[in-house]
Amino acid sequence: MRQNYFAKLVRYMKNVYHIDRGLNKLSDGRVNPTYSTGQVIMPVLFGFLLRIKSFNELSLMIKNHEFRQLFPRGTKLPQIDAIRDTLKVIDIDGLKQINQSILKTAVGNKTFENGTIDGYMVAAIDGTKFFGSNRKSCSECLKNAKGKTTHFFHSGAVMSTVGMGPKLVIGFEMYKPGQDAVAKDEGELNVAKRLISSVVKSHGKFIDVVVYDALACNSVWINHCKSLGIDAIVRAKNNNNNSLRLARKTVNKTEAVEVWECEKGFEKVEVYESTFTMDNVEPSLRFIKFAIKHTNNQRTQIMIVTTCMEMALKTLFKMIRARWDIENSIFNNLKRECGLEHCFVHGGKAVEAVLYLIFIASNIMQLFLVRRLRNHFTTQREIIRLLLKGLYLLKYKSELVFSSS
Ligand SMILES: [Zn+2]
Repeated sequence: MRQNYFAKLVRYMKNVYHIDRGLNKLSDGRVNPTYSTGQVIMPVLFGFLLRIKSFNELSLMIKNHEFRQLFPRGTKLPQIDAIRDTLKVIDIDGLKQINQSILKTAVGNKTFENGTIDGYMVAAIDGTKFFGSNRKSCSECLKNAKGKTTHFFHSGAVMSTVGMGPKLVIGFEMYKPGQDAVAKDEGELNVAKRLISSVVKSHGKFIDVVVYDALACNSVWINHCKSLGIDAIVRAKNNNNNSLRLARKTVNKTEAVEVWECEKGFEKVEVYESTFTMDNVEPSLRFIKFAIKHTNNQRTQIMIVTTCMEMALKTLFKMIRARWDIENSIFNNLKRECGLEHCFVHGGKAVEAVLYLIFIASNIMQLFLVRRLRNHFTTQREIIRLLLKGLYLLKYKSELVFSSS
């Protein structure tokens, strides 16, 4: 084989992102542990990079010494029970810092030099349910009672880059039982506010514009973004509120401000816009309606409200459509390929820890594919196949020590 992609990935993680250092700095609440936290977490991270679907699968890989060459000769790896116990008491902040440092390095290496859409750095937020059960529960579970059965689940809001370049998870925030209402809209907005505040705290002005769906089309979200110095674009639905209804009426009486023929696979897009004032929001906002005629003659429309007063309409259209990137590249991809909806381990801090590791693995893979392999692979399955092949070949070759601890 001309090149061993697994060896290439390991070197990339170590030399460019210093993931080994971050892992070695991790700590947890166990007393007199046999294995350091890093030793326990490393196989899990490699497992997620190789797309394991269960801890049983990881357990078999460890038992078969698949990761042997990543550690100095003679290193004993923990069994799956020790991994589960460690994840329950791990220092979540350490995992958060590993992800932050990946993003900082990516930015420092000019990954997003030209922004993600027309020179702007754009991120999207969306909420999702990670998994649910009618049997297992923990103190952090959300509950939904239906008749005699209670459904337990975990949900959260995720923020990722959208547009051009690697799709990186910038941060996520879990619903907290008791604090965030289980009712989707009310709860999620609260969680999303915490999320964007925490991202700004860690990364400063990394994001120019944040795109979100109609549940955020209100003064609470727009004022929150404004106070953080981030521009907001939100989907507007028909019945949002009074001031919006007026804006929509105004727009319906005016002529299109721009008409685009054959734009991005659509036959025609007519754009209508007006400025308006939303209750409890001080500066004026823009209300824009994109009336789309598809090539099959079907007609749809996208309505948005935004604080971007000067931005070109075509740029705004690209941004609101890029919102689907978080759905496709992050949620659907990770749910289908990486067991994002699978409960690997439940209890204590384990759920959040596993999510961090899945997102860290996803970010590393995105950067590896875009930056190191220059999007050479058309399918992610193909690179996973080659990674597993590389891991297998390494087993019978020289050591490739990832960590010395
Ligand atoms: Zn739970």
